[in-house]
Amino acid sequence: MTIGKIHSFQSLGTLDGPGVRFVVFMQGCNLRCHCCHNPDTWSFESEKIYTPEEIVSKVLRFKEYFGDEGGITISGGEPLLQPRFVYEVFKLCHENGINTCLDTSGSVYNDDIELMLSETDRVLLDIKYTNDALYKKYVGCSYGLVLRFLGVLEERSIKTTLRQVVIPSVNTSTENFCQIKQLAASHSCIDKIELLPFRKICTTKYDMMNIGFPFKDIPEPTPDEIEKYYEFLK
Ligand code: SF4
Repeated sequence: MTIGKIHSFQSLGTLDGPGVRFVVFMQGCNLRCHCCHNPDTWSFESEKIYTPEEIVSKVLRFKEYFGDEGGITISGGEPLLQPRFVYEVFKLCHENGINTCLDTSGSVYNDDIELMLSETDRVLLDIKYTNDALYKKYVGCSYGLVLRFLGVLEERSIKTTLRQVVIPSVNTSTENFCQIKQLAASHSCIDKIELLPFRKICTTKYDMMNIGFPFKDIPEPTPDEIEKYYEFLK
């Protein structure tokens, strides 16, 4: 029996994919992003274990709110680490007429993930930086892995939202936004770019876990700054 290790649920989310969505946050992550908002999802230990059928019966309770665009989003942690489970959830969702969306950092790829993508309508690809040095320093994987994953999305024509958390002074160079533009221009699967402001509300989580928040001294960007970067991307 396939089971999934779950961190938490959000019944009617509006920030993780188009429309209104039921969001499933998976437990466990292979990365250690210095900007991470959810360090409590890192561990692979979870007391919340669900079958795909149990997840889909929860999702179905909210189907009437999804409208034309909404559906399910599976986020994390890193959902690519439980691809068999995500595949079965998405397959059942499709059988019930529910749109499927995956929120991922795109740092892993294997046969199970390939299968999972066959049931994935949209990917929210969180691109943390646009060069290898920053990926190695602040994420813990190579940029090439993310580009490889994006290449697969392009090959399979899976609608992709490119997302970046805007971290002042770390990834706000002109070069970074030029790279984002270039990625969008060279991948027809990318139909949307989202810039998410870096936030420090997660500091209390780090305190409770007794670990330091590496980016605690970096300021949050203002709405005007975010607007300015969007303008540049136009
Ligand atoms: S991939 Fe996501 S959950 Fe994992 S460390 Fe990075 S921001 Fe946190």
